Amino acid sequence: MGESFGLRERLWKIGIVNTTEIILLVVVAIAVLGGAIFAAVKGNQRRDQLDRLPDRPQVIAEPSQPEQVTAAPELSVPAIELPESVPSRMQRLRARLARSGSLGQTLLGILSRGDLSASDWEELEDTLLLADVGLDSTTEIMDHLRTQVKVEGTQDPTRVRDILRAELLALVDPSMDRALKLDGEAPATVLMVGVNGTGKTTTVGKLSRVLIAEGHTVLLGAADTFRAAAADQLVTWGDRVGAPVVRSDREGADPASVAFEAISRGQEEGVDVVLVDTAGRLQNKSGLMDELGKIKRVMERSHPVNEVLLVLDATTGQNGMKQAQVFAEVAGITGIVLTKLDGTAKGGIVIAVQRELGVPVKFIGLGEGADDLAPFDPEGFVDALLG
Ligand code: GDP
Repeated sequence: MGESFGLRERLWKIGIVNTTEIILLVVVAIAVLGGAIFAAVKGNQRRDQLDRLPDRPQVIAEPSQPEQVTAAPELSVPAIELPESVPSRMQRLRARLARSGSLGQTLLGILSRGDLSASDWEELEDTLLLADVGLDSTTEIMDHLRTQVKVEGTQDPTRVRDILRAELLALVDPSMDRALKLDGEAPATVLMVGVNGTGKTTTVGKLSRVLIAEGHTVLLGAADTFRAAAADQLVTWGDRVGAPVVRSDREGADPASVAFEAISRGQEEGVDVVLVDTAGRLQNKSGLMDELGKIKRVMERSHPVNEVLLVLDATTGQNGMKQAQVFAEVAGITGIVLTKLDGTAKGGIVIAVQRELGVPVKFIGLGEGADDLAPFDPEGFVDALLG
């Protein structure tokens, strides 16, 4: 020991031990560092595997994630479509609405005749009625129009058109608050109601897309448990727009429990908005009341439902209005989504439905595609109606 210590001391003096120790230290450090990196990589792989294990596989359908990698283009095929920008969507939708509105063309045709005869006035009235503006609103518009024309002593078609535009706009009511209420404790909850076939599920998909494009996280609840196909359709939309779906694995399961599970999941995962799709069978009104009432009550256990949106098919006219009244009674609606406006010239239903139900039209559907939903804009709408 003593000898080796003496040798060490001598070697130290000439600097050899120092160098050797440093080399040894470096070798040990590299070994330790290498080991640590290996362990960390292994650990991450294991954590990834654990993360992939779904804790409730029976109720959740995760959407495919958009590929983030951009270095190798052939690997970066997005799993979901990217939404069209809002301004270009609005432009396209306005153009489509203008094309579909024969109300404006007919009205202009009558007005351009110049001096309006009694039968011209009648034709004007009929045109408004045929466009589903509704009897009360049409009478109101015609009374104001006649009075104004008399007061101003004008029959100039451009002036009459302007008066008509102002009347229509006043009835559509630009002062109504049409924003989707998503305030309060997260997640905001939106309940979608309406008769089957009106476009509820499609609207849930389109609306999710708008919300996701605005930066919100969205989770969907498939509370139409009567047909497995309905939940499948919602999962397809969820996959397309990038929203997970809570669904039951059993046909005929309690819709309220699916809604509850969707909100619980939303809370656990810190989601911004939970949209719940429901069934709308009108054959049995009391059954529908019980079902929607229960879904709403269960959802309200966490906090008040932010929005109850009634989806209404614009092509169903007065018949649709009757359905709307039933849902308004049952679910206490806060807003209307008027779908299929691309398939009808009867845009006047906007006026009739708002007047009847006292709630604003918040969105309009103008086609089957993912971007065919627009926030309702009263001025743009009236202009499009008048062509
Ligand atoms: P639900 O039974 O109420 O959920 O209705 P769906 O969402 O299944 O829609 C019924 C049909 O209407 C589907 O073929 C949709 O593509 C179609 N649809 C939904 N919204 C619109 C719309 O705004 N315009 C048009 N033209 N078709 C629509």
